[in-house]
Amino acid sequence: MPTDLRALREEGVLRVTWADSQSDFPLPFLRRQCECASCVNEWTGERILDPASVPDDIVIQKMDLVGSYAVRLEWSDGHNSGLFTWDRLRELSRKL
Ligand SMILES: [Zn+2]
Repeated sequence: MPTDLRALREEGVLRVTWADSQSDFPLPFLRRQCECASCVNEWTGERILDPASVPDDIVIQKMDLVGSYAVRLEWSDGHNSGLFTWDRLRELSRKL
């Protein structure tokens, strides 16, 4: 579980601080990785979200912790149904 989560507007990243490291996720990258039911087909795993539809200057408007296992991000494109679990953020940090 992260020790800190911070949306840095100027840098355009979500900075996740872990006990042993730190990951800076570019915001458009993170938005395109959303796996909620409106971004990915739950049955086929096919991506519905067109990556090109995500503006490169997208920002996070709101972050809500969900229990102790995830964060829900509200984006400037109005999307707010995607959860990112800590496990998933860890996995994504290996793709940076
Ligand atoms: Zn989504």
